Amino acid sequence: MTYDYIIIGGGIVGMSTAWQLQQRFPEKKVLLLEKESVYSKHQTGHNSGVIHAGVYYAPGSLKAKFCKAGVAATIEFCQQNDVPYDQCGKLLVATNVLELERMHALFERCQQNDINVELLDGEQLKVREPNIVGVGGLLVKDTAIVNYQQVTTKMAERFIDMGGDARLNHKVVGLNETKDEITVDAIHNAEKVTFKGKFLITCSGLMADRTTKMLGIPTDFQIIPFRGEYYQLPAKYNQIVNHLIYPIPDPELPFLGVHLTRMIDGTVTVGPNAVQGWKREGYGRINISLRDIWDMVTFVGFWRVLKSHIKTGIVETKNSLWKPGYLKLVQKYCPQLKVEDLQPYPAGIRAQAVMKDGSLVHDFLFAESPRSLHVCNAPSPAATSAIPIGAYICDKILERTA
Ligand SMILES: Cc1cc2nc3c(=O)[nH]c(=O)nc-3n(C[C@H](O)[C@H](O)[C@H](O)COP(=O)(O)OP(=O)(O)OC[C@H]3O[C@@H](n4cnc5c(N)ncnc54)[C@H](O)[C@@H]3O)c2cc1C
Repeated sequence: MTYDYIIIGGGIVGMSTAWQLQQRFPEKKVLLLEKESVYSKHQTGHNSGVIHAGVYYAPGSLKAKFCKAGVAATIEFCQQNDVPYDQCGKLLVATNVLELERMHALFERCQQNDINVELLDGEQLKVREPNIVGVGGLLVKDTAIVNYQQVTTKMAERFIDMGGDARLNHKVVGLNETKDEITVDAIHNAEKVTFKGKFLITCSGLMADRTTKMLGIPTDFQIIPFRGEYYQLPAKYNQIVNHLIYPIPDPELPFLGVHLTRMIDGTVTVGPNAVQGWKREGYGRINISLRDIWDMVTFVGFWRVLKSHIKTGIVETKNSLWKPGYLKLVQKYCPQLKVEDLQPYPAGIRAQAVMKDGSLVHDFLFAESPRSLHVCNAPSPAATSAIPIGAYICDKILERTA
């Protein structure tokens, strides 16, 4: 049998695409291949669970556009599919004059991006968050929390109910494209299985560069893994904050800074930081993959990015290895927390596309061949934005295959 569409990757981006493709074209045969035994085992299942409102993103970027549409779409999806969510809002807290300046710049950006925000002074901040200290805050009312693994699983159910074919434990190891079709080789239970399709979409997250290269498409980026390490607070602190509490980010850095996140299960996490990863899919304390390291050190962009972010890299690594350093980042706005309050919690790993010139790719990045479309960079908040991204991919495919 020849499938109309084959999708690689059962994270939220791949599953949202599969579900929406099947919904738009009920008569087409759609196949999704995922190498793990569950959906969303990687980035989608190891994140902060925040439905971001879109405060930070450059006006006009795909990130800004997808995020704005993504908040409404994700909440609507949760309501229609009985997935629990909580629109608890978020507070960005300024703790000094420089951060106040940056906070006002973010306020301006929110106006440009049409995001509903309110500026708070120190007193108003205290009323809303008695356990948080700061000289001002930016309240983002639309921000919410959810479990993205639950969202992906619901999308999978809907995809399969409509006749979609989703296969777990299928690791794609080879791709070939001819004028008429795409051939996909996968390993399942140690055996090779081959699928044929008319069009291929890859949404393979931390492996995005490798699956794109399997088709021989020339690329000048590589995925560099950045670990995001979290801690969890003891249950006695489950009510310590009413909103999600974020620092004011440094505009030079792509990550948001260590935040206090209320999770949908009622617990509170602290994190994530951003440290160099030495294994793309390693979640323990010590994770090393010789293949992943080799790919990094033989890529010129890795050395360039290392050189330009060396100072931040050293500080982040120190704080990763030394808990009191990590704690200081949170104590800045939540002074009552102590080292013993930081309890172990699984890390997440970000797939960061880096170009040969050493620049970090901040927006979505796609690559194409006549019969394929590859999502090469789906940066945070791609979980929030997964429904509009899926819709965008469907539109692109329609243009290409019409
Ligand atoms: C620490 C951290 C915190 C974050 N916090 C947030 C947040 O609060 N809110 C938000 O909106 N976003 C957040 N993000 C970003 C968000 O989680 C990701 O952008 C999003 O999950 C990306 O989804 P994906 O489907 O592209 O990738 P993934 O979830 O990584 O899925 C890719 C899938 O492809 C599969 N795959 C790869 N290669 C193959 C192969 N050869 N064959 C078959 N299958 C393959 C993998 O097994 C995987 O399941 C965070 C990310 C991290 C890491």
